Amino acid sequence: MGQHRIENLLLEKLPQPYRDSLLSRMEEVAVPTGTVLYEAEEAPRYAWFITSGLVSKIVSMSDGRSAEVGMCGNEGVVPAWHLLGGRSQGPARCVVQVELKALRMPFPELKTEMEVVPALRQLIQRCVHRRSMILSQIAACNRLHGAEERLARWLLTAQDLTGNNSVMLSQGFLADMLGSRRTTVTLAAGALRRRKLISYRRGQIQILDHRRLEDAACECYGTVSQLFENFYA
Ligand SMILES: [Zn+2]
Repeated sequence: MGQHRIENLLLEKLPQPYRDSLLSRMEEVAVPTGTVLYEAEEAPRYAWFITSGLVSKIVSMSDGRSAEVGMCGNEGVVPAWHLLGGRSQGPARCVVQVELKALRMPFPELKTEMEVVPALRQLIQRCVHRRSMILSQIAACNRLHGAEERLARWLLTAQDLTGNNSVMLSQGFLADMLGSRRTTVTLAAGALRRRKLISYRRGQIQILDHRRLEDAACECYGTVSQLFENFYA
């Protein structure tokens, strides 16, 4: 496996020969869209190093409403903050939004590994640190910005993380991600489509004009994309 291009930023940062030793203990998997990698308030079974695709972290309230609080691609490990501290559960569940290719190992094994390998621990800490900054921005965005500009922000970030300008999404997923009613999401997608920024057919959303979609997105897109850049700087 050490011969392959890894295509996960955290793994690429690990020093050799330790990186190959860790890779030899991982399993390469493909994971379809809609799969739940871990549930809220349950200890994750695996730790995932995504090499392509996209996951969302979603928090649901007792009345059934949900909002997305994070997006992760190949920049790090999922979950990350569950690895720090004594408690391995959290309020968010993690759902595959764009089919994954990933390397995985049992979560408890990575947790033990991290405790004895400083280089790995340091990278995971940096990953948690950067993601918590992204989370702060998304928390404010969910509260302050409208569905249309948030949808634009989401689509642009999804493109940055997957390298693909087209994504297959159900309205239910979109509503969960944006923390809005389905009708609000339909209106937001319709408005972007009328302006010819995206096409939207049977759940397939394609970005038609990246630059103008950036203009339509809230300022959070720029902030979040800067935080994804030089992720371990
Ligand atoms: Zn925003």
